[in-house]
Amino acid sequence: MERFKGPYVNGCFIERKRKGGLQKCDPGKTIRTIGVWYETKGAVKPAVAAAQQAFDNWAWLKESERLYYLRTLQAVFTKRRDQLAESISSEMGKILPESQAEVQAAIDKFDTLLTEGLGLLASHKSTQNNYYAYHPRGVMVILGPFNFPLHLPNGNWIAALATGNTVVFKPSELTPFTGQLIAECFHEAGFPKGVFNLVQGGATVGQSLVKHPDVKGVIFVGSDRTGQEIKKQVEHDPKKICILEMGGKNAAVIFDDADLEKAITACTASMLTTTGQRCNALSRIIVHESMVTQLTVELANRTLSWHPGYYKQADAMIGPLVSKAAMTNFFNYQELAIKAGARAVLTPFRISMSPEGYYVTPTIHRLDWQGPSKDQIGYRYDEIFAPDVAIYSFKKPEEAIQIHNDCRYGLVASVFTKDKIRFEEMFRYLEVGNLYWNRGTIGSSPTLPFGGVKASGNDHPAGLFSPLFCTYPVAIQS
Ligand code: NAD
Repeated sequence: MERFKGPYVNGCFIERKRKGGLQKCDPGKTIRTIGVWYETKGAVKPAVAAAQQAFDNWAWLKESERLYYLRTLQAVFTKRRDQLAESISSEMGKILPESQAEVQAAIDKFDTLLTEGLGLLASHKSTQNNYYAYHPRGVMVILGPFNFPLHLPNGNWIAALATGNTVVFKPSELTPFTGQLIAECFHEAGFPKGVFNLVQGGATVGQSLVKHPDVKGVIFVGSDRTGQEIKKQVEHDPKKICILEMGGKNAAVIFDDADLEKAITACTASMLTTTGQRCNALSRIIVHESMVTQLTVELANRTLSWHPGYYKQADAMIGPLVSKAAMTNFFNYQELAIKAGARAVLTPFRISMSPEGYYVTPTIHRLDWQGPSKDQIGYRYDEIFAPDVAIYSFKKPEEAIQIHNDCRYGLVASVFTKDKIRFEEMFRYLEVGNLYWNRGTIGSSPTLPFGGVKASGNDHPAGLFSPLFCTYPVAIQS
């Protein structure tokens, strides 16, 4: 059993002397529960205090010195890449090549953010005596999701630390050992004490961090339900910036002039990669009526050809869901789908295999659009975060736009058409933060901002733009 070291505060792990230990949860090998005692709520105050104390020195180091530490961290991630990938897969279940790709994306992120990203903050002279320059905020809390436990918080701590802030990171309670490994990498990189701190736990620990009066910013990546709670917690504290990167009910809109083969290939991968547990996973296909039958049959055939398997199996293409709760949620939505009038094309069942895990068959439904809904909840509207796609058909482009926008989320849309003017029209009308042309919804570019509108985010896109929200501009006049 791996040793759980507890929180990492002010440059060291504070290990707890208790009997037993935290057991690793491997969703591909069923169910081992994590003991509740691992929560480190008591570490919140010391971690924020350590980050607060480290802030002044760190903020006013030369930028090149801060970047030196970050480049060292990049080298440590590179050296420990196999260990990081193994840790991610074994904790959240995705197949090893996906975790390897996540680690590579995290390593590459340093290059983009430390060059182009920081370039966004170049101070600007408007007249000889008037200019503005960016100031770090202070202690930033980073709350991570389980599905990309390294890559997503990584983009945020690179931006926060490079611009002079200090960090308290709380990984998902589903990926505590990956969080611990990340803290070990920071330790190995030799960062000054208190610049990066780790606390472990779930909602209670997250809430304590968010509410802490010395925290100047909260960067959250997770579900819209949690994001809304966090927003309420900070709304009475205008000095605290709150960055919310939340879920999606992402759609592909396929016009009758599209390359259907290309669209089906892209849709299959966008639906199934990471077992549908990506914020940008495909959940809806809105296809011209002339193509709906062919698309449905082909998508079902391709979906059935994706082998489920344990992350270490070389032929595994799709892993398990992350937890028993995620599996129960998936099956509950299958019942709701039928209640919402869906016709099942691929029906759901749990896959029994050895080792046993939370493996399910991907599902596809056909649905008729019934006009906009006021409450925006249920199968048609909720992010299920599992491999499930609902297929709608349309006759006219206006109808495709209406179906697309009848959704409380607005993260990613893919438009398949050969017509550039039609694509540009979609830019005008589709309510999303990321719009892709003739490509699937996954595979977001590291050199662009990434964020959503409506319930998917709050207008502070991350990706390349993270350095902007980690700082505030100060106007300087003489
Ligand atoms: P989650 O909302 O359950 O948890 C995210 C983090 O918030 C965890 O660290 C969790 O412990 C913490 N948390 C939970 N309740 C809290 C509270 N009340 N106060 C403070 N912190 C709290 O999300 P998850 O299941 O880990 O991740 C999946 C979700 O993340 C999906 O909705 C997915 O779409 C979204 N996501 C979004 C993006 C994006 O860039 N937009 C990227 C990846 C994942």
